[in-house]
Amino acid sequence: MHPDPPGASSLPRPRMFFWLPTDGQRHAADIRDRHLPSGKLITTLCGRQLTRARGTETEWLWPTCPECWSAAEAHVGQRT
Ligand SMILES: [Zn+2]
Repeated sequence: MHPDPPGASSLPRPRMFFWLPTDGQRHAADIRDRHLPSGKLITTLCGRQLTRARGTETEWLWPTCPECWSAAEAHVGQRT
């Protein structure tokens, strides 16, 4: 058996995703995938499987994927 340490199951969950600019849109993906090596597929909150692209100077101007945005909002409890 591997019992959880006291209180482990009641800790609040922090924001657990990061933004992944790909193909002209910014998608969100699980933070645990952030350090995957380039070339590995990353599953986004909207269900796509993307590879991390090389960063560009303009990617922050790209529109946010609405499906990922909705999923991210739900994830942090901003939407009821
Ligand atoms: Zn998306």
